Amino acid sequence: MATKAEVLNFVRIYVDKMAEHRQELTDLDQAIGDGDHGINMNRGFKAVDEKLLTFADKTIEEILNAVGMTLVSTVGGASGPLYGTAFLRAGASAKGKEALSDQDVILAFDEGVGGIQYRGKAVKGEKTILDSMLPAIDAMKKSIGEGKSMTVALEEAEKAAWAGVEYTKTIIATKGRASYLGERSIGHQDPGATSMAYLFQAAKEAAQKAGK
Ligand code: ADP
Ligand code: MG
Repeated sequence: MATKAEVLNFVRIYVDKMAEHRQELTDLDQAIGDGDHGINMNRGFKAVDEKLLTFADKTIEEILNAVGMTLVSTVGGASGPLYGTAFLRAGASAKGKEALSDQDVILAFDEGVGGIQYRGKAVKGEKTILDSMLPAIDAMKKSIGEGKSMTVALEEAEKAAWAGVEYTKTIIATKGRASYLGERSIGHQDPGATSMAYLFQAAKEAAQKAGK
């Protein structure tokens, strides 16, 4: 996911994933929220899809910013501003860079998760997006630190993300709509943590495709 073409491919793959898993994400949100997470994510990334052609002349910074702006402006639910801010922060971290080194990719994810934490004021263990994203980033940093390739690092990151998704079934939601359920949220998988695990899956597939 280093060159601009790879970043674009990652976005394209995630657009498809949000269409493919729309119903699954919505069903998860039906159980502990208002049943719109798949609809929200799909709406946002369909709007991104419609702009993809206009991204051809843009820099990595501009592409990630455009994704962020589109999400913020088209998604009504909590996830729009959260994912939107993550892409905007990741975009800002890529300012002036023609391609992203492995450390730049880590920085983009760190800035992205920082944006989600700034917006949502959540910490690990509150049954949110962070419960898959934080362990995934840690796993990615560990792999890159050990000199592994980006594909392997993102494989490890995705694995950690899904483990985080499983973990959300065991904890009480204390942020977002699901927090209204209190203890009754236990046993249910968090939709936002799930959509974030698919984001790492998309990043992994983009890296695999690029042979990185
Ligand atoms: P809404 O809750 O407004 O209906 P969505 O259904 O699209 O929005 O998104 C719900 C998801 O948003 C939750 O499953 C959770 O992962 C995530 N979420 C909610 N609040 C926060 C927060 N403060 N920080 C991080 N993620 C959050
Ligand atoms: Mg919802």
